[in-house]
Amino acid sequence: MMSEQPENTLFLPGKTALRVKLWGTRGSLPSPRAPELIRQETRELLAGFFDAGYAGKADVETYLEGLPCHRFGGYGGNTACIEMRSQRAQVIIDAGSGIRPLGYEMMNGACGRGEGEVHLFFTHFHWDHIVGLPFFVPIFIPGNRIHVYSVQSELEEVFRTVFQKPYFPVPLEQLGATIEYHKLEPRLPQVIGDMTLTPYALDHPDPCWGYRIESGGKVVAHCVDTECTRVSREQLGVDLPLYQNVDLMIFDAQYTLMETIEKVNWGHAAASLGIDIAMREQIRRVVFMHHDPASADAKIAEAEAQARLYHKSQIKVVNRTGLQVPQVDWSFAHEGMTIDL
Ligand SMILES: [Zn+2]
Ligand SMILES: [Zn+2]
Repeated sequence: MMSEQPENTLFLPGKTALRVKLWGTRGSLPSPRAPELIRQETRELLAGFFDAGYAGKADVETYLEGLPCHRFGGYGGNTACIEMRSQRAQVIIDAGSGIRPLGYEMMNGACGRGEGEVHLFFTHFHWDHIVGLPFFVPIFIPGNRIHVYSVQSELEEVFRTVFQKPYFPVPLEQLGATIEYHKLEPRLPQVIGDMTLTPYALDHPDPCWGYRIESGGKVVAHCVDTECTRVSREQLGVDLPLYQNVDLMIFDAQYTLMETIEKVNWGHAAASLGIDIAMREQIRRVVFMHHDPASADAKIAEAEAQARLYHKSQIKVVNRTGLQVPQVDWSFAHEGMTIDL
């Protein structure tokens, strides 16, 4: 299955093989910050500015640059949407509310002229992964072709449900763009230009598929949403290749370690589990996302700090064995984060 894309300014210049941009990192529900919280944070920021000895406008940027994510900017409120670009392809994974700003950006290119060829892959159809669909502007522009992909067979049914009254005023038949449905086969690669995407099963209450994305010798594993109840190589079995020889893993960290114990079967993991897998499989870089909508940025920062302690303790364990400690560079995702491979 092959789909060629024309040369387009969207594709990557230079030697970068893959660029990953996180347009939505929140799980479950878009989570804007309440005005009172913004007010409180602004109060603390201003106090911190003067406490640090800064005094004038010229110091503002230096001060903000030095703040951790949870003190300024935060982790983001839009739900799951990830853009992958390679030298000759652009692919989107999931249509959470993060796809809305991505759509606006795409309107500056071929999509705005009605010449866009969009490739949108779905992991599953929980609300937080489809809620942005009716607000993805390229879908309304005549001439655009929107290719949509899923392993699940309900793909067209999902589109018919989303684009119908009383949920949305424009029915599917009246969308400007042409929608083409593609059924993926488990563990069989789909080629888009110079990018290959292979679906592997994740562990979630409804069937959910992760993707192994390869281009130019670089590999990204997209593992969201998952509780990752199968951890060992034996348990993972046919889905183990999702985690092997990977340059960047994007992993579900909705909960803290304690919460995963309380929320068994809720379908999400904690960062500690992703760290374990990354250390075992020698995955060099991990980004954790699907942050809990119930967690304020300060709480997510706390979960990140707990995960740092956990990682340190695991390093000590390996050190005691005398084996070489695998290097894992990881961080919690924030909206707009871009990673080049
Ligand atoms: Zn989700
Ligand atoms: Zn889900």
